Amino acid sequence: MKEKTPGSSRIGVLTSGGDAPGMNAAIRAIYRAAYELDIEVAGIRRGYTGLIEGDFFRMERSHVVNIIHLGGTILGTSRTEEFKSWEGRQRSAENLQNAGIDALIVIGGDGTFKGAARFNDETGIPTIGIPGSIDNDIPGTDFSIGFDTAINTALEAIDKIRDTAISHGRLFFVEVMGRSSDLIAIESGIAGGAEFLVLPEDKNAINDLCTQLSSSFSAGKRYAIVVVAEGNNPGCSFSIAKEVSDRLSIESRVVVLGHIQRGGSPTARDRVLAAKLGVSAVYAYTKGHAGVMAGELKRSVVLTPFDKVIMGRNKPEQNIIRLAKILTK
Ligand code: ADP
Repeated sequence: MKEKTPGSSRIGVLTSGGDAPGMNAAIRAIYRAAYELDIEVAGIRRGYTGLIEGDFFRMERSHVVNIIHLGGTILGTSRTEEFKSWEGRQRSAENLQNAGIDALIVIGGDGTFKGAARFNDETGIPTIGIPGSIDNDIPGTDFSIGFDTAINTALEAIDKIRDTAISHGRLFFVEVMGRSSDLIAIESGIAGGAEFLVLPEDKNAINDLCTQLSSSFSAGKRYAIVVVAEGNNPGCSFSIAKEVSDRLSIESRVVVLGHIQRGGSPTARDRVLAAKLGVSAVYAYTKGHAGVMAGELKRSVVLTPFDKVIMGRNKPEQNIIRLAKILTK
């Protein structure tokens, strides 16, 4: 690997796919690390869409002032089918070359890295990834930027719902996000003291829930909070609530947290993670790395090749599932 000479480089940065709180903190860290190394940064708007359209701007210090606490992404994000085509990626490479940009840092999730892997391999433009996803399902990192904020947002909602659930004596179903990973449901359920957790792969969940609710309500309990993982079926809690209510003749309410979990000011943990990974991504580039994601494993920054990152999805470990089962029943 050939080391890069500071002062002679320009790197592009984009955020792509699902936005996650802490992406701005990562952009700021990238800019500041690059500035220290005398590397110019080009902001690329709207993810791969902006890359394909050449929607770039020279980042200045003013762009990253007062953004560390902001959710969302100042660069904007998008999903685009065009980057899945060879032509789309070639046009992107030409745009970077025409703008004198030598390397690319992408902040996103699984889909973003699939695109980045192909782009890096086909064009030879060094591309480095940073995991930004509330789902926390990306291999090569213990946590992705945004997850900690998302579970705290879910927790805050559960705590508030508990107040009204207790006052009114109500059964509540709180549906949380998480796509292929149930980790938001598991961790917010544990932290929020949920009475029950419904995970998509648990085929007996509704029967078990009915048995448990029936015995606790007969014993005098008047409220319960059930946390439901949306899995790949957002809105699933409505049918679950109806079935349980019908079977037990208990009224229930449904709260789908949805996109609220994507927004908000990032937690300290997400900001610190974003800082570490943003700075590490820039240093990785200067040391000649390419086609890798900067993640954090056991408190150390680790560079994992894209092909290993996109091979699968991290699933919650059995230990935490067992813990949740013990505490939410
Ligand atoms: P996330 O990065 O949050 O998982 P997506 O799965 O929507 O979000 O992916 C973001 C973008 O990455 C897609 O809109 C597409 O432009 C690009 N992408 C996803 N999969 C591929 C692929 N197999 N090849 C090339 N680009 C891809």
